[in-house]
Order: sequence, then structure tokens, then C-alpha cells
Amino acid sequence: MLCVDFHCHSLASKHATNTIEELLQRADNLGMEGLAITDHCPGIDNTAWLLNQEDERSFWLHRITGPDYPYFKVFISRYQPSETFKTVLFKGIECNILEEGDRAVDVPLKEAGEFDLVIASIHPLPSLLQTHDSSFLTERLLMAMEEPIDVIGHPCHKGYVPDLPLIVKKAADARIVMELNNSSLRFNKTDFEAIRKMLKLAMKHECRISLSSDAHCSNEIGCDEGIRPLLSEVGFPDELIVNRSLTAAKTYVAERKDIRRSLLQI
Ligand SMILES: [Zn+2]
Ligand SMILES: [Zn+2]
Repeated sequence: MLCVDFHCHSLASKHATNTIEELLQRADNLGMEGLAITDHCPGIDNTAWLLNQEDERSFWLHRITGPDYPYFKVFISRYQPSETFKTVLFKGIECNILEEGDRAVDVPLKEAGEFDLVIASIHPLPSLLQTHDSSFLTERLLMAMEEPIDVIGHPCHKGYVPDLPLIVKKAADARIVMELNNSSLRFNKTDFEAIRKMLKLAMKHECRISLSSDAHCSNEIGCDEGIRPLLSEVGFPDELIVNRSLTAAKTYVAERKDIRRSLLQI
């Protein structure tokens, strides 16, 4: 089990099943030290798939109205977990890497300095980033790392593997972490060989990584059954894991918050 889980979703993401309180309660029951709740920017709402729209593209474009300010604003500025929870909450967001535009991600700039953790991920869906072109994918990922973000979420989707040597080197230089995502492994969404390669490159460049369940249901919180064998197989050093303990997680979050805020002032 993860002692600090750096990625999960509440009902606010619209395709996850539990409330913030239920997720925290589960983490607390498990004795976890920390939990980052990182709901999606509303550009991703998988309920659209369930509706099986014929004109999918226009349907998506019609629905995507930008970040859900009311939810994120209240979550950041007003929400406080019950004092009975021992698990520390990190307030995060998972934004999307975009196919078009001057900005490669859709994290709202007004709030980008307020989150504890900003994940940027490729979600191969209409109007987001659907390309299979590795060099274009790599270009958008490199652009994303100029933005106020902290983590590249599930970087090696099946069929969507970027140029890992370039990406990992850039992440190390920018002090951004690469994520090792348990759901991607558990639900067979990722390329195992690419993940192994990413971990070995991270060791070579001393690029830090984060571990996450990417839970969409409370019973997935803290799960790491796909992650652990890979870490052991490559002999990944603990000190390069930013959420290896609550102290390490807090240090990383504080470091990145300062960097994000300085980027926003430029
Ligand atoms: Zn994601
Ligand atoms: Zn996610």
C-alpha cells in the first residue's frame, strides 16, 4: 500500500464514484499518511462515451467549457477535512495536455499557484491530445513542462509513448516528476516496456518519480500492486520517490508551489 497516494478522483470528476470525504475516510481507515485528491479539469468527462453520440467531436467541443471554477475554488479556499482524519489531504488537479493552442495544458492560471499538486496528463480523447505521432506528442509534453505543473501523469499509454529520453531529461532539469500510475498497470492501459525504460532513464538522470493509485473508487485508494514489482525489478532507489513518506511529500509540494508561483510571476 502507498503511504502517500498522489493521484485520485472524487465524484467531481463525473466518472468516479466517491465523495472527497469517502476517499479520505478510506485512506484514514487504511492508516495512510497522505492523499492527494486530483480531480480532472472538465475537458475530460468520460460520461460522454457512455452516451454513444454519433457526432462525438462536436458533442465534446460543445461540452468543454473550461475548468470548473466553482468546484476548484471552493475546494482550494474553503474545504477543510474533518479533524478526525489523520490522513493529510493535498489539494490537487489533473489537467489535460492539449493538441492545439499556445498553452499545452488547461490548468487555470488564476488558481495554478494555489493547488498543492498539479498533474498534467495525456488523455487520448477528442479535442484533447489524440495524436499517435511520437514527435508531436513529445513536443506538446515538452511545452507542458514549461507550464506551472508538477507531475507528468501516466506518461506511457499504449500507443502513446513519447520520446522518453528527451522527456525524462527535461523533467529532471525542470524538477518535474514522472508518475508511476497503478491504474494504468492494473487496467492494462500502459506499455510495460516503456515504463521499464522510463524508470531506468529516471535512475540515469536522477529524475524523481511519484507513485499513485489514480483511484476512481474508494476501494482503489493506496493500491500499488502493479507498481511494486516494477520498482523492485529495476532496483529503483527510494530517495527518487517524492511521496515515499509524508515528510518527503510535503517537501516536494512546498518546493513545487514556490516554483509554480515564480513561473506565474514571469
Ligand atoms: Zn489521467
Ligand atoms: Zn487520473
